[in-house]
Amino acid sequence: MIKLGGAGGLRPLAEAVVDLDAIAHNIRTLAGRTGAELLAVVKADGFGHGLLPVARTVLAAGVGWLGVTSRAEALTLRAGGVEAPVLSWLHAEDEDFAPVVAARIDLSAASSAHLRGIAAGAARAGVRAEVHLKVDTGLSRNGATDDEWPELVRLARRFEAVGRIRVRGVWSHLAGGESPGDPRDTAQLRRFDRALALARAGGLAPDLVHLANSAALVGLPETHFDLVRAGIAVYGVEPRPDLTVGLRPAMTLRSRVILTKRVAAGTGISYGHDYVTAAPSTLALVPVGYADGVPRAVAGAAEVWIQGRRCPIAGRVTMDQIVVDVGDLPVRTGDEVLLFGPGDRGEPTVVDWAGWAGTNPHEIFTGIGARVGRRYLPVRAERNSGRERVHV
Ligand SMILES: *Cc1c(COP(=O)(O)O)cnc(C)c1O
Repeated sequence: MIKLGGAGGLRPLAEAVVDLDAIAHNIRTLAGRTGAELLAVVKADGFGHGLLPVARTVLAAGVGWLGVTSRAEALTLRAGGVEAPVLSWLHAEDEDFAPVVAARIDLSAASSAHLRGIAAGAARAGVRAEVHLKVDTGLSRNGATDDEWPELVRLARRFEAVGRIRVRGVWSHLAGGESPGDPRDTAQLRRFDRALALARAGGLAPDLVHLANSAALVGLPETHFDLVRAGIAVYGVEPRPDLTVGLRPAMTLRSRVILTKRVAAGTGISYGHDYVTAAPSTLALVPVGYADGVPRAVAGAAEVWIQGRRCPIAGRVTMDQIVVDVGDLPVRTGDEVLLFGPGDRGEPTVVDWAGWAGTNPHEIFTGIGARVGRRYLPVRAERNSGRERVHV
């Protein structure tokens, strides 16, 4: 019988256990692979691992910067007592930037309209805004195009001259970064170098030039510049399967069996009876479903770990429940069910789940629902020598 975390008897039916020691290990491992400073990307609630616990852990492990997408995430960090540098990069032009400028959050500007909005916010806050100008070097998503870039640089220089902003960074984001020698990476690097040269010729003097994500951190040292933005690697997923660097998966997603039953051969299971037992079998009911982040798309492929074995999810994933066909295993109510873990014992990993669902680990992590409890295993003191214990 296992006990899941949760206070006062209201224990959740499923929980994500986050090993902060693994996250600290990953930071040390990644820092050892670059001469640049690290920015840990903690957007989307720390990729589902918990914004503040992850932020405090990575900072204690030596990261210099945190990255988020929204003003709300940035201000949540400040409200949680995080004083470290934070870059926030996804905004509408007409947002009120005054509170984030006042909170010393660095802001990305992807267009002249964004930059005007930030400068106006800085004026209202009475604080100079620290800005990272974003150039689109080929992802064709956020950032100024080559055509818009010279005007963005001119406008930034004018706002600098009147003390509204300072351009601390120039940055971009890669479309690939995942396979060695990808000509698209080379093309993006060339466009980035050109944009940087134009910015400097236009009088800007950014201290922080940054381009690389996790995959580029591991495999493309020529993209590292001053700062590297690491997301998925922080959470222990190898960003380049061909080039593993010894990261440790931080999250284990677990639940427990809440009902078992013995059924005859030929029994149809779950909506539509997509799955029919081939022989007499034991079914285990597990109280997690797509509302908890178990994708419907994994039906017919996914396995969970019960009593040291991988057992198939039988039939459709429903909103709140899955049925597992455990065959003749003596499974009982209360038995632990691992959906994914580090994989050390043979249990499925988040990479397996991403494969079954036809997605990436990022989407599995960020899809974990609000009903799932979060529990944190602390950074272990002996591995964190000379540093304070992390309180979360
Ligand atoms: C999410 C994000 C990252 C992190 O990407 P990973 O591939 O997870 O390392 C880096 N930079 C930007 C702009 C992002 O949006």
